[in-house]
Amino acid sequence: MKILVPVKRVVDTNVKIRVKADGTGVDLANVKMSMNPFDEIAVEEALRLKEAGKATEVVVVSIGTDKSAETLRTGLAMGADRAILVKTDIANIEPLAVAKLLKAVIAAEEPGLVILGKQAIDDDSNQTGQMLAALLGWPQATFASKVVLGDGDVDVTREVDGGLETLRLKLPAIVTTDLRLNEPRYASLPNIMKAKKKPLDETSPETLGVDASPRLTVLKTVEPTGRTAGVKLGSVDELVAKLKQAGVL
Ligand code: AMP
Repeated sequence: MKILVPVKRVVDTNVKIRVKADGTGVDLANVKMSMNPFDEIAVEEALRLKEAGKATEVVVVSIGTDKSAETLRTGLAMGADRAILVKTDIANIEPLAVAKLLKAVIAAEEPGLVILGKQAIDDDSNQTGQMLAALLGWPQATFASKVVLGDGDVDVTREVDGGLETLRLKLPAIVTTDLRLNEPRYASLPNIMKAKKKPLDETSPETLGVDASPRLTVLKTVEPTGRTAGVKLGSVDELVAKLKQAGVL
């Protein structure tokens, strides 16, 4: 069984974000980019399923510019077998467009399982997996903290408020990853070298017959307001008085 893992190129988690002067978005000039962390977890899970003999092939797919090929190479260096780049110059490709493109890729690839990140840390949409499941009419389990692949189905444990929920989904299915599912491996140097020789196919929204043009306009992006400095108090009585004044006590 083939597992498809969509991976997005996003700003690296260690980068201090700067908003563009005109407020239209985040300044990406000379900024380190990496694979979306939830997608690293998705690749790791797919690789573990393959290593356990439950999957035969792991294919990573990314939708973005030429540079998304770097993200795909990271997936290949982690251990994925093949990569597909859906090349587009649209800078902020929206979740619905991504879901439609993935649906077209899935029609050709016919995976038994698709594992996505629960959200991309740049747009924080948390929409693509859900939209993809709806477009395909496939069962979905979001925010997975455990995945057990059976014969023709998959059991997914999800962290819900105050406990855990386990769902059984018939394959083919969509799963999205939560932070505690696993700890992704680092790609070793030999594997990074090997990844250069692994197949990376290219296609485009036009070839897939999908209109990926944006439907949303970002009106404003603002940085969070800085925290105001605290006050040092001289005594416990003063603290109690202040808390009373603030209506806390
Ligand atoms: P989002 O709905 O934008 O928060 O993204 C959720 C997940 O969808 C991500 O963790 C990826 O697995 C997948 N995804 C979103 N955008 C892309 C993209 N441009 N290319 C590949 N996968 C994507």
